[in-house]
Amino acid sequence: MPFDLIMVESGTALQIAEIPLFRRKLALPGAAHSGSLLQELLCSPQMSRATIAQEDWMPYLTLPSRREFLAVSAAAVSLTQAIVPGRAQASRARWAFFSDTHVAADRANTYRGFRPYDQLAKVAPAVASSGVEGAVIDGDLARLTGEPGDYENLIQLLAPVSAKMPVAMALGNHDHRKNFQSAFAKHPGDAQTVRDRHVLAVPAGPVRLLVLDSLMMPDFTPGLLGKEQRTWLERHLSSSDDTPTIVFVHHTPGDNDGELLDAERLLRILKPSKKVKALIYGHSHRYRFDVMDGLHCINLPAVGYNFADSEPTGWTEVELSAEGADFKLHAMGGNLEGNGKTTSVAWRG
Ligand SMILES: [Zn+2]
Repeated sequence: MPFDLIMVESGTALQIAEIPLFRRKLALPGAAHSGSLLQELLCSPQMSRATIAQEDWMPYLTLPSRREFLAVSAAAVSLTQAIVPGRAQASRARWAFFSDTHVAADRANTYRGFRPYDQLAKVAPAVASSGVEGAVIDGDLARLTGEPGDYENLIQLLAPVSAKMPVAMALGNHDHRKNFQSAFAKHPGDAQTVRDRHVLAVPAGPVRLLVLDSLMMPDFTPGLLGKEQRTWLERHLSSSDDTPTIVFVHHTPGDNDGELLDAERLLRILKPSKKVKALIYGHSHRYRFDVMDGLHCINLPAVGYNFADSEPTGWTEVELSAEGADFKLHAMGGNLEGNGKTTSVAWRG
């Protein structure tokens, strides 16, 4: 399989890491004068004005140096572009992508020596303090059957993240759609009308994220998008603008019985649509980069536990642009060898 990946040493892709800090300090107090704009930023039901006042959203009172001023101005412009519909999009965005949190109602639940509750309890504050602008969790949010108690713990664990940024979630084979929808009423982006499915289109600076739903039934390993969702996807891709698009689905697009059963039909839709740059999935609890006919196929690591000692658990910090993306692995358990390593992918033209 041909690869067009460029390995970059840790840190080189993070030169604008400080910009989101400026963004929070400077842009939000400005936005606070227009109440509706501020409300638009509050993608989480837990977020409130009071929370903002207590957190690091305080007005930036120190006069910045000229160099800082220029950086701040650029960041403020970038934020405006990112959140105001109809304006040109920000040229870069930094998001957290991770998968398979497998949070159980029982905090002590353990598998292969991992305690998923504790795993996410480590990952969530790291994501929240990293300065990323949003997060995607690519399914298998719950431990096995998607119990209401699983999602209650998930809400609690994600609170530091959802207080600061939009969190888009896909459903996996260990989720329960109705229990999930009862637990999470609000979602970032535009909810799409696909019957009995949780499908989102989420703007992320220079790219668009499409979150699909491959859950067939709780605790049943294979996944299926189904004809209605595939038809919606085809129509969406043919009617939307040329914004580079990243598609998320929980299941791996292989042909084994426990994978995405309509993977081939999905790939027949995605491959010819050149604006689709990557297909991102979880499910296997492995971290892999692959390319199929120019389409990047990226398997996110699991948060909850790995299936093999050779795999990390953790999250990826992803710098997105219209040209490609840099995935920095934050390994927090399992194989830690790749911790801090950045893998860069260039989008097809
Ligand atoms: Zn899983």
